[in-house]
Amino acid sequence: MLTAPMTGVIAAEQDNKTEDQQSGDGPGKFFQRRPVSTHPHVRSHCNECAQDHRREHREAAAIRLWGAEEPSGITLITMLHRLLWLWLLIVTAAVLVYIPALAVTRPNIVLITLESARADRMGFLGSTRGLTPNLDGLARQSIVFERAYAQAPLTVVSHATILTGTYPQTHQVNEFASPLNSALPYLPDLLHARGYHTAAFVGSIRLDPKNGWSPGFDRGFDVYDAGFDPARANGERTGDQVVTRAIKWITSSEHGPTFLWLHLNDLQSASGNTYDRAVTSADTAVGKLIAALRTQKLSENSIIAVVADHGESLGAHAEETHGVFLYDETIRVPLLLKLAQNEMAGRHVKGRVRLLDIAPTVLEAAAVPVPSQMQGQSLLRVARTSPDTDQPAYSRSDFPQQAFGWSVLESWRGGKYLYIRAPKVELYDLSTDPGATRNLASTAKATLTTMASQLEAFDSRFENGGKSDNRGLSSSEVQKLASLGYVGLERPASSAQSGPTGADPKDNIAQANQILQALANISQGRIEKALPILQQAAAAKSYLAQYGLGAALARRQQYAQAIEHLHKAIELQPNSAWAHYEIGASLAKSGDFKTAAVHLELARTRLPKFRGVHLQLAETYEHLGKTAEAQAERKKAAQ
Ligand SMILES: [Zn+2]
Repeated sequence: MLTAPMTGVIAAEQDNKTEDQQSGDGPGKFFQRRPVSTHPHVRSHCNECAQDHRREHREAAAIRLWGAEEPSGITLITMLHRLLWLWLLIVTAAVLVYIPALAVTRPNIVLITLESARADRMGFLGSTRGLTPNLDGLARQSIVFERAYAQAPLTVVSHATILTGTYPQTHQVNEFASPLNSALPYLPDLLHARGYHTAAFVGSIRLDPKNGWSPGFDRGFDVYDAGFDPARANGERTGDQVVTRAIKWITSSEHGPTFLWLHLNDLQSASGNTYDRAVTSADTAVGKLIAALRTQKLSENSIIAVVADHGESLGAHAEETHGVFLYDETIRVPLLLKLAQNEMAGRHVKGRVRLLDIAPTVLEAAAVPVPSQMQGQSLLRVARTSPDTDQPAYSRSDFPQQAFGWSVLESWRGGKYLYIRAPKVELYDLSTDPGATRNLASTAKATLTTMASQLEAFDSRFENGGKSDNRGLSSSEVQKLASLGYVGLERPASSAQSGPTGADPKDNIAQANQILQALANISQGRIEKALPILQQAAAAKSYLAQYGLGAALARRQQYAQAIEHLHKAIELQPNSAWAHYEIGASLAKSGDFKTAAVHLELARTRLPKFRGVHLQLAETYEHLGKTAEAQAERKKAAQ
């Protein structure tokens, strides 16, 4: 959690106060400047008087308005009283008229997140490949942020930052189904509380709060269209399918102010020769949505934000996909913001901004107060007043530590430099080396020290020193697991220790590529192809290899071996909901219902809306003779 003084929002509020005080435009001073209020009697009656004085005053005014008897001799003060009353009535009437008007004209908000879309493929950011005609058209009506940076190269983590306006070490969401904490500010929830209709249409099981990796993401949504089947782990929809479902909802529902989030997944599994084609298919889906909004007359008064959750390495720095490294290929993303009535259309913001800033920006554009827990700042203010000023941008990936047992990576972009905190530290001058190919860490010592101290100063703004603790087990859960023979649970997670520890992901990226490819093969049913790679990798302390192996063996009904590997996976990542679910299912299949129940209950805590876990628990409780509990689980599964 952040300590209060660091947020841009708070700093900005303090700035405003200072301005008010200096210019004398505060409400108190306004009244004091009026000649009428220089008279102590008038001031006490109209601003600060007690209730009974006010009543007297109101009654007197009412009599005069109805033309009742005037007191003899109209003094200057009486005239001023009347004028003041008239003025107050006019103001009151204006406010009464204005409030419903505001309610009617509140903008619709459409947030489009493009899965894995690189900034350098966008025409509006200078690409000459001609892949994005629809986005380029939208860009002409929008503010274009030329240098926007994600805070993490991972789908669920980055979406959590976009929707909560907080850093990954604050929201603590990971790619292993850790629930989104209900105490976090959440954009859909905040808008819903202000009367917005809220709907989400996502293209991947990763963003399915009931069956996937993002429990809690449906908070504040009237409609959350996901419904993927975890038995088919590659549950995905194309951008076109997602847009079609969203348009059906738009055209069949009432039009109050609406918050619509669409996640277009076309680029998720695109690589080398399919990547550019997938960019175009996502662009076409955006075009279809915009055309539908126009037909429904919902375009003009809508705020449309388009952003990618992260980019894609496509082999840069030897990383095939995304999730480990923090170079521009995966961290620099496209960001467009079309405001209502196309305000500031065509403006280009050259300064560096962050995905952290999106939630505060959308709230400000909708005239909803920004919660102080949000850690970004409004980009409207940036676009209006300082479009060329760089914000430093922080990013991190806990994935190498959590998935493979290596070091966490963190990056700090400040000025023209990219600094990467890793076991083998890195420093790049992006002005001369945009591809980050020449590490200056050993030659530019003074710059290295400056960048390192800036990142340390940033750490100190967080209560926990900026380190993630993703273990997320309650003490009773730790006890239960320890009694089942799990070891090492009391040990602090290595990411909670100071400084980068463990193997450097740079030295191991080939293995990460292999394991991720093996998991992709499993999800596509090619288990034979995946097994040898995972068996080799499982010898190292890789949670992902152990989990993948366990899940693959369970599919082949080799439950004893599956349990062995899933047990190791849980020792490495005790908070992994899916490892608990898988081992629970395998234990039940092999007749150990008592142990199965412990794991399934852990999974249920983390995936409370997942039907599969309730069905599996019902069966397990029946075998244990717990009939009432079994019935309760069946009831939940039917909901
Ligand atoms: Zn993603």
